[in-house]
Parts: sequence; C-alpha cells; structure tokens
Amino acid sequence: MFSLVGKTALVTGASRGIGRGIALSLAKAGANVAVNYRENKEEADKVAAEVSKMGVKSFPVQADVSNKSDVERMMAEVKAQFGQLNILVNNAGVVAMGPVENIGEAEWDHVLDTNLKGQFLCIQSALKIMASGGRIVCISSIASGGVGVGFGSVAHYAASKGGVVALVEDLAIELAPKGININAIGPGIIESDMTNGMLSDEKVKSGFLERIPKGRIGKPEDIGAAVVFLASDEADYVTGATLYVDGGWLAK
Ligand code: NAP
Repeated sequence: MFSLVGKTALVTGASRGIGRGIALSLAKAGANVAVNYRENKEEADKVAAEVSKMGVKSFPVQADVSNKSDVERMMAEVKAQFGQLNILVNNAGVVAMGPVENIGEAEWDHVLDTNLKGQFLCIQSALKIMASGGRIVCISSIASGGVGVGFGSVAHYAASKGGVVALVEDLAIELAPKGININAIGPGIIESDMTNGMLSDEKVKSGFLERIPKGRIGKPEDIGAAVVFLASDEADYVTGATLYVDGGWLAK
C-alpha cells in the first residue's frame, strides 16, 4: 500500500526540517526526489545523499521559490533529470512574528512572496512537466484561519497560510479534469529550525503540550507520512482538502 515506486517528486525547502522529512518519507515509499533549497547547499547535498542511499534517484536543486526565473530553471532541471514530474510538494516557507504595527512592507512581502506566491509559481511551472495522475501537496498550517486557532502577532504568516488553503480549493476544481489532485496539509507544532527557538523555552513548550491531545510535539516524518498518502494512487478521490496533522490540537 502507498507505493510510489517509479514516481518522481520535487520537494521545495527540503534542505532542513519538515521538507527533509517529506523527502525521506517519499524516498522510503520508492519515489525519486529532487531536493530544493534556497541557500543551504551543504544541507541539501546531505539530504540528496541520504535519499540516494535509499536506492532511489535524487539531486539537490537551488531556487528561490519566490523568483519566477529561478522556479522555471528548477523545473527545467527536474525535466532534464527525471523527464517528467509526478509529485510536487510545496513546502518552502518562512515565519515572522510581531505586532501588526511593526510589520514593515518588506517583511510582509517576504512572507507572502515565499509562502504564497512561491507555491503559485511552483504549481504554474510544474504543471508544464506534470504527468496526468499528478499530485500536488501544499503545506499550510493550523494558523491558516477558519479552524478556530489564532496565535496572534503572525498576521502575515496566517494570511499566507490561509491563502494556501484557498489556492488549493480553487485549483482542485480546475485541475481535476486534467487528472491532477491538489491538497493541503496543515501541520500543528513540528520540531524544526522554525520552532526550535519557541520549543527551547520550557514554559512555551509545556503550553503547547497542554493543547495537544497526543501529548507530544510533532516530527517531520509525521508530515512525511501524510504526504505519502496524498501522493499515492489510493488518494485518487481526495482533492481540494486540507488535512490537519496536529496531534489532535484542532479537536480539543
Ligand atoms: P525550516 O526548518 O525553517 O525550513 C525551511 C525550509 O524552507 C528550508 O529548507 C529553507 O531552505 C526553505 N526556504 C525558505 N525560503 C525559501 C525560498 N524562498 N525558496 C526556497 N526554499 C526556501 O521550516 P519548517 O518548520 O521545516 O517548515 C516547513 C514548512 O512547514 C513551512 O512552509 C512552514 O510554514 C510549515 N509549517 C511548519 C510548522 C512547524 O511547526 N515547524 C507548522 C506549520 C507549518 P534553506 O535551508 O536553503 O534556507
């Protein structure tokens, strides 16, 4: 079940954290994986080497997902190496925090350009090399809005992640006749460089744990497992959905 043998995948922001976990989970299921990064070449090289050791093909590919020409160069490289793309995982993202009066225009643009425009650019470019039966998985967040969770002081981040859910719902309608499924995943609190600072504060960490029925912080492989399911043939009837992988946070 959930075999991805012979499939090709591109994971954005796969040099670290959740993206690295997704790349390894896809490889474990048999997919060949292109490992995108923005600037952390050394870490991306390591992830591609780890993936290759699992008996599938892998290569690192630099691109800033918020830059259209970078994205088009990345897709050309994926086409040259893999021929076609079966699975796109839009994972690359940044977070910023602060009260609304302190959010400068440049910071707003950086968060929205990376987290939302970046996903749009990757989808638009990937569709040119995506086979029928393709799968697109977009990483949102429990901070997406509409699910009863508000963190406060992350207005730009929340807006970008809500935008991802809307993007996915709209594109599901357009892409279904082309045989392409698109879904979002909304992670809860997951161990990564993005959350390390918060989680090293024991008070903040225990506050999170009180909110999580599963009683633990999530791991990148928790998200990787959900991506493997959504990328599989078995998820053929799942499109336009957002799967929250949060240890039960939203249920509480
Ligand atoms: P992370 O540890 O900070 O890793 C971020 C990754 O994104 C890195 O690989 C980074 O590449 C890449 N990246 C950043 N900007 C990029 C750009 N413009 N172009 C290409 N790559 C870029 O973050 P994470 O926690 O793994 O988060 C991954 C995704 O999950 C993000 O979309 C985040 O919003 C979402 N998420 C995370 C959590 C959580 O609790 N961790 C919860 C909900 C949602 P470099 O290494 O080259 O810088």
